[in-house]
Amino acid sequence: MGLNKKSVNDINVKGKRVLVRCDFNVPLKDGEITDDTRIKAALPTIQKLIDDGGKVILCSHLGKVKNGPNEGESLAPVAKRLSEKLGKAVNFVSDYNVTGEAATQAVAAMKEGDVVLLQNTRFRGKEETKNGEAFSKELADLCDAYVCDAFGSSHRAHASVAGVTDVVRAKGGECAVGYLMQKEIDFLGNAVENPVSPFVAILGGAKVADKLNVIANLLEKCDTLIIGGGMAYTFLKAKGYEIGTSLVDEEKLDYCKEMMEKAEKLGKKLLLPVDTTIASAFPSPIDAEIEVSVVSADAIPADKMGLDIGTETAKMYAEAVKSAKTVVWNGPMGVFENPILAKGTIAVAKSLAETDATTIIGGGDSAAAVNQLGFADKMSHISTGGGASLEFLEGKELPGVAAADDK
Ligand code: ATP
Repeated sequence: MGLNKKSVNDINVKGKRVLVRCDFNVPLKDGEITDDTRIKAALPTIQKLIDDGGKVILCSHLGKVKNGPNEGESLAPVAKRLSEKLGKAVNFVSDYNVTGEAATQAVAAMKEGDVVLLQNTRFRGKEETKNGEAFSKELADLCDAYVCDAFGSSHRAHASVAGVTDVVRAKGGECAVGYLMQKEIDFLGNAVENPVSPFVAILGGAKVADKLNVIANLLEKCDTLIIGGGMAYTFLKAKGYEIGTSLVDEEKLDYCKEMMEKAEKLGKKLLLPVDTTIASAFPSPIDAEIEVSVVSADAIPADKMGLDIGTETAKMYAEAVKSAKTVVWNGPMGVFENPILAKGTIAVAKSLAETDATTIIGGGDSAAAVNQLGFADKMSHISTGGGASLEFLEGKELPGVAAADDK
């Protein structure tokens, strides 16, 4: 299965230089960190390596770095906050080159339990994002072992996620995952590859096209696949229903038919809305007060737009969740940014909050919705990576996961 990966519990780092790829991609405003969730989330792995006597060298990207290295995207604020959280010095190597003379010297001066933070890996541009060999080697030269704890970046084969591990392994070093990565692998990996059934998967969000492989893969793995959100209307149209001015992807009608046939053949339940909340137009601004009504899914007037699942559908979906032992949810059921159109999403979130099943939220908008509704602590796991969690649900092997040694 390839998910039985070495973690920080399985490697011996005493006296060794350990390079840790973190996700310190925090939001900044005027040079101040506005949300340090990602820094806090990285602490257990860092602390474990400090306690084990490792020389802990941290690296991360921050922002998209479109116009080359710049102070606005420096990791300096992260170093400061991290030092406060750890209660010890973090030696920040501010050199825009990330590796090189300054980094080498800082690492050479390290004692057991010391922490060094390198500069933003995206300051190396394409060398980082195109998995450049030279940069991979320079990173690997700084360390004896490597730990990846950046789940949100693990679907990208970048030098600091993938390339570096080849060089570390070639020189006999171990590559492991940190606690954050381990948790994501345990929850998302097990849910998809080894679910306790009944396994109910709920997919929403805007477009069918964004989730083609997720739908196909989950249909194989789950017992019931629930479809909501904008993507539901392409399915309804594929069934031959009038969908008015609702969001539709004409090119994916055949695909939706195929999926409905596939579900039938596999004996899986594919649940689609039986009723829907409609309005005359998409709300503008998005949270504008609009007039809505609920109609049967096969009775959408030609001049109306479906913007949320209807009340009967919400009940039906909540009922399906009740019978599940594992639930994975990605994507809102409607235009949840508008309170009038958030009812379907709230109903689904509530049903997940109330069940004893293992509940997994696949990042992005659904994670935001769950947080916003105050249900976060009722879920078994909320993924920290939108894109990465979707690729997991597609059944793809993530470069950051593949790069860790098997146990
Ligand atoms: P992420 O990829 O960040 O995880 P997501 O998968 O949760 O996102 P998206 O595919 O980005 O979801 O779609 C979410 C968006 O879809 C929301 O902004 C929501 O308003 C919109 N949406 C949901 N239902 C509809 C609908 N019926 N018509 C139009 N837009 C919709």
